[in-house]
Amino acid sequence: MKKITFAFIIALWAAYIFCAERDSLSDTSIVYFTSDISSEGLMKVFEMLGVSDTSGVALKVHFGEDGNQNYIKPVIYEGIVKKTKGTFVETNVLYVSRRKFTKTHIALAKEHGFGYAPIDILDSEGEMEVENDNPKYFKSVKIGKGMDKYKKFVILSHFKGHGLAGFGGAIKNVSMGFASPNGKKEMHQSFFPEYDPALCKDCGACVKNCPGKAITTDDELYIDYSKCMGCGECISDCPAGAIKKPTKSESQQMFLEKLVEYADAIEKKYDMVYVNILANISKGCDCSPFAGKPFMNDIGILASTDIVAIEKASHDLVDKEHMCEDAFLKENSVSGKKQIEFALDRKMGNVNYKIINIDSIE
Ligand code: SF4
Ligand code: SF4
Repeated sequence: MKKITFAFIIALWAAYIFCAERDSLSDTSIVYFTSDISSEGLMKVFEMLGVSDTSGVALKVHFGEDGNQNYIKPVIYEGIVKKTKGTFVETNVLYVSRRKFTKTHIALAKEHGFGYAPIDILDSEGEMEVENDNPKYFKSVKIGKGMDKYKKFVILSHFKGHGLAGFGGAIKNVSMGFASPNGKKEMHQSFFPEYDPALCKDCGACVKNCPGKAITTDDELYIDYSKCMGCGECISDCPAGAIKKPTKSESQQMFLEKLVEYADAIEKKYDMVYVNILANISKGCDCSPFAGKPFMNDIGILASTDIVAIEKASHDLVDKEHMCEDAFLKENSVSGKKQIEFALDRKMGNVNYKIINIDSIE
């Protein structure tokens, strides 16, 4: 009897160790890294993901706003386009720009060098609603109707700053990037910048760059909130700190939660893998004609099947290179780290990751 009890305890202990090891492994996601920021480098990290069926692949990119200097130039996608015979996909934007309408959006994409592969603006034939099984703000999310044409999505994201979200990476590329203009609007609603006339230097940058034409200076500077889309560009652009994010921190928190909620619903429905390109890291995003010069060195390219792990690893590498705890909070006065926390809360992936540097693999 004593022997049986002892054996039973050993068996239980072994089972416990086995389960604990399994848990610790399943809590860690792999993120592949290369410092080779080129088409070849991108192909090497992408191939590590083991995507076998590459037919009918949609390559989610950002074509860059008219005048933006920092968007990722399409030469880097040549290898993946060749391998997957993929289609560049995007959605139209909410604000007044050439990217608001399909025809001018495609013309701009071609001017920016993306014309060597098919281009599909996913909401060109309207929007569709996708059910959200974990709603806080939205029972369904509104996305481009064309998404159902594709079996697999490679989310190719430029990891950089964003005036409102702190940073823009894979989460934002999925949520804003696939949302129809109506979807974009419902995520942005509730985030209106605040203006402090005492700090204003009258430089006019915010008026010139506002994509909604919401800022005027007829008499004194005025933000028309009925035209404002809450994009946050004026916050990034103001050199005097006269335009700030809303003092109510709930507004930004709500925006980031909405962003993550959209990404969650979309990535649950579609098969996606993620590639983040850490180059041309500026304060403003690729939607801005004046995103500012990159404020730090280029780092490399990351790839993962886990959207949370790749965002966390990307942010950590940027912070390390910038030698601070939150590079985007420092440069932009806006932290985007809550994106990662909210995504973790929604169980979209792991914050624990292991980086495999493929540069050292022969
Ligand atoms: S957030 Fe600023 S830049 Fe964006 S639309 Fe509103 S006023 Fe214009
Ligand atoms: S960018 Fe700032 S300093 Fe320049 S006009 Fe606008 S609020 Fe004033």
